[in-house]
Amino acid sequence: MRDYGHWIDGAEQVPEGTGWIEAMDPFRGTAWARIPRGRPEDAGRAVAAAKRAMTTGPWATMSQTGRGKILRRIGDLVLEHSARLAEIEVRDNGKLIGDVRGALQFKSDIWTYYAGYADKIEGAVIPIDKPDTLALTFPGPVGVVAAITAWNSPLQFLAVKCAPALAAGCAVVVKPSEHSSVSSLEFAAITREAGLPDGVLNVVTGFGQDVGPALVESPDVALVTFTGSDATGARIYQQAARGMKRVAMELGGKSPNIIFEDADLEAAAAGAISGIFGATGQMCTAGSRLLVQNSVKEQVTRRLLEMARTIKIGDPMDPGTQMGPVSNKPQFDKVMDYIGIAREDGAELAFGGRAAEGPGLTGGQFVEPTIFTGVENGMRIAQEEVFGPILSVIGFEDEADAIRIANDIDFGLAAGVWTKDMARLIRMCKAVEAGTVWANTYRTYSFMVPFGGRKRSGIGKEWGIEGIRDFIETKSVMISTATAAPSFIPR
Ligand code: NAD
Repeated sequence: MRDYGHWIDGAEQVPEGTGWIEAMDPFRGTAWARIPRGRPEDAGRAVAAAKRAMTTGPWATMSQTGRGKILRRIGDLVLEHSARLAEIEVRDNGKLIGDVRGALQFKSDIWTYYAGYADKIEGAVIPIDKPDTLALTFPGPVGVVAAITAWNSPLQFLAVKCAPALAAGCAVVVKPSEHSSVSSLEFAAITREAGLPDGVLNVVTGFGQDVGPALVESPDVALVTFTGSDATGARIYQQAARGMKRVAMELGGKSPNIIFEDADLEAAAAGAISGIFGATGQMCTAGSRLLVQNSVKEQVTRRLLEMARTIKIGDPMDPGTQMGPVSNKPQFDKVMDYIGIAREDGAELAFGGRAAEGPGLTGGQFVEPTIFTGVENGMRIAQEEVFGPILSVIGFEDEADAIRIANDIDFGLAAGVWTKDMARLIRMCKAVEAGTVWANTYRTYSFMVPFGGRKRSGIGKEWGIEGIRDFIETKSVMISTATAAPSFIPR
């Protein structure tokens, strides 16, 4: 069992006298590594290192092209180390090996994408209404960034936050989830191999309440970029407001996946199954509310049950496995609690609903893929994010009814629409209150397309060109070109 240290100022630092957090393998139910239980002082040292890197280190004076080259090298090294990183992600998180291998290519590409942007961040010359004055904008890094992330895709969050932040010239302190920090620590060591100067990227581990406030409230942190639950996001937003800091929030969801009677029902059912049981339902974009037109509800439900029956639950390292364990024990308990809540509130359990058992599943935190029918949109199971493999099937009458139910929710992260009627498809894409709408598909992601939520699902956009804007601060500069001295009394 390996003990990891924080990654601060370009080196692993194992603080003395600190406690440890055990990294648990959710498949075996055993500890496999230990990470430091960070304290506010560790966060303070990391922020100080980042500030030094931004003000006095080589990063501060490096050309934008030079920064881009390092980012590109990081992307290459993510691929070189992908076998090791993939194994870590499976052990720490229970993610499926096939999914993680594919996703590492995606993560490497995110670094390459923003590497290309580093030397294309341009200011402007503005034709203003004042004579003898040149008006310019200088774009620069916003400052030290605190990146606080969730447990379900640590390397992806790290890439979509740190790659644009570094391309803009910022330095970052990452606080990964206490449930899955190892891959972020391993990744940090890779950035050194890529030539990233010391202090530009730091990783401090620990519980949110121990380390988080020290990062969010530090006067040297300019921006907090957060991925996690809406409850924690709201707390961080309030803390950040006291220091008048910028925030970017990628929060939870309760996304509607809407099937009309004229859809390709086979494709729609497959999209519904992958939209909720992919990644064991532990996706912010999970299509957890399946809205089905009443005329085809029975037919679609029948097909969902047939498909759910074939899902292979098991060892996430086995390439044949389709659904792995729930990533951590608190999350497993939460999923099981919500199954009870749905039943108490009167939803009909049509499939699953128990902890999954069987050969090879001992020791793990497995839940059966679970489908509830007869769900009313007002029930807790339809309104609250579970972040697990539970699908609620809700009927609707017509287009207006579908829009009403889809938007009758506090969240607004993603949505799916299935119909062959193109005019209706476009109307639905416009009407649904969500940051991303998938039409006749679900879970199609690209780092080139902006991603972010509305309502309680977040503030701001990540990914794509929009994903770099938060990290750039524009300075306005006005230069006099007058030959005469200015008048004492301003005109
Ligand atoms: P969480 O809110 O419990 O924790 C997220 C991070 O915040 C962790 O690193 C945690 O240690 C830290 N934290 C906790 N309390 C803190 C505090 N007081 N101050 C500072 N930091 C604190 O979320 P989670 O359970 O790790 O992740 C699941 C949630 O993340 C779900 O709601 C999911 O939808 C959301 N999520 C959103 C996206 C997106 O892009 N929108 C992506 C993935 C996950």
